[in-house]
Amino acid sequence: MSTKRTFTMIKPDAFGAGNAGAILKMIEEAGFKLVAMKITRLAGDAAGKFYAVHHERPFYKDLCAYMSSGPIIAAILEKDNAVADFRKLIGATNPADAAEGTIRKLYATSIEANAVHGSDSDENAAIEGNFFFSELEKVGV
Ligand code: ATP
Ligand code: MG
Repeated sequence: MSTKRTFTMIKPDAFGAGNAGAILKMIEEAGFKLVAMKITRLAGDAAGKFYAVHHERPFYKDLCAYMSSGPIIAAILEKDNAVADFRKLIGATNPADAAEGTIRKLYATSIEANAVHGSDSDENAAIEGNFFFSELEKVGV
């Protein structure tokens, strides 16, 4: 099914390395419109709440510590087929497996510090976007 919106984060590794601008350029050049965007930090238990679906996985504690280790950019993106097309643009979770030209191939440094997040379904895109943004902050296009 064709979907209109997805949610992304530029993670602490990519933001800290000064790659946010280059990554946003790739996102816009791939045809995604920015609906909402902010620099923020997943302080306290916010990372734990965001990644609650992963709480049984062995990397959960490390992932939460890493995701709260520095500022991130959170953004809602709009494009036809947004969820699937964005997952294609970012590439595989492990940068070693990511296709040439993908954001993770270019900017990720490890399976954990993998530069960007992309929602995995329409339902999660809406939940994740609502975690960071109020309706008033979603400007739309
Ligand atoms: P994301 O949800 O961030 O877009 P993804 O959907 O490709 O990534 P998930 O399986 O949802 O991958 O994992 C969420 C995040 O947890 C990954 O992006 C990565 O930062 C981290 N992660 C996943 N697998 C591992 C692992 N084996 N070891 C360490 N960290 C991991
Ligand atoms: Mg995921």
